Amino acid sequence: MPRRPGYPLYGSRFCGNMNKKEVHDLDNEKNLCQIDEIIRSMHAKSFIPDTLEQAHRQGYDNCAYCIGRSRR
Ligand SMILES: [Zn+2]
Repeated sequence: MPRRPGYPLYGSRFCGNMNKKEVHDLDNEKNLCQIDEIIRSMHAKSFIPDTLEQAHRQGYDNCAYCIGRSRR
């Protein structure tokens, strides 16, 4: 699935789920990530800079489906 151009991700590669504190990689998105559901629930956020390292710095854990190696 493509990156989401509109609010709140504006084409970002990484999407944080603020509810679960998980980060997703939209360039490797799986159906199980349920990105559109995260956006609908108003739990989606992007990172500045748009990197996995920044998501980790903010306490986000990897999604098991699109990134793997979850630390939980
Ligand atoms: Zn994911």
